[in-house]
Amino acid sequence: MTSKMPVLFIGHGSPMNAIEKNEFSQSWKDIGRILATPRAILAISAHWETRGTQITAMEKPRTIHDFYGFPRQLFEITYPAPGSPDLAQSIKELSRKAVIQPDLNWGLDHGTWSVLVRMFPKAKIPVVQLSLDRLKTPLEHYQLGQQLKELREQGILVIGSGNIVHNLQLAVFDENLKFDWAEAFDRQVKELIDAGDHESLINYDKLGQTAARAINSAEHYLPLLYTLGLKDEIDPITYFAEKVTLGSISMRSIKFG
Ligand code: ZN
Repeated sequence: MTSKMPVLFIGHGSPMNAIEKNEFSQSWKDIGRILATPRAILAISAHWETRGTQITAMEKPRTIHDFYGFPRQLFEITYPAPGSPDLAQSIKELSRKAVIQPDLNWGLDHGTWSVLVRMFPKAKIPVVQLSLDRLKTPLEHYQLGQQLKELREQGILVIGSGNIVHNLQLAVFDENLKFDWAEAFDRQVKELIDAGDHESLINYDKLGQTAARAINSAEHYLPLLYTLGLKDEIDPITYFAEKVTLGSISMRSIKFG
């Protein structure tokens, strides 16, 4: 008997959260403690963008340090969780509309491991990553999420890792500075999620100027659409790490179910 797993959206923010003790890294730790141990993890990270959807299918995914200018300590972290070629294969079969190609080159990027190193520090649970196919429309990303619902019944924890508001060009390294537009959009997304208005969240390009600024390149927002697709209507919604950092990065994280 496996009980149905919740779905998580994690606002991952700076890679430093992997080594810094702060309210965000603490919240990931806490979530790891309250969840039933998943059979495996499927991560959809903002940091793997491809043409066509791919899924990591190697036995031992490498830890990818896909950032520059951070302390050496961060480059020394590895997350040696096993992969799962079998799970990659069953995800490929689950997706009836989208073609998913197995990948043997990627691994775990920091959107995945910076969070998992806190949530499941032992790195014993198999992890596969699904890429973001940038040729897909937002609706197609959402629908692919819907097609993966069955994984939850199989004890697979699906984690979307991005940020609801993410505009690095406008980010400021001053914790006291707040941008009204970033806070407003973060709040608007929460209200739409609470109202179950997935249609507006999918068609975010119709949400106006604020949305355009908050979702400027979309890769950090798209993982949210997968998690909304995986959500069942009856799932309770819990928010944590509700905060906008660096002016323009929302750390709001969500547990569905
Ligand atoms: Zn990121």
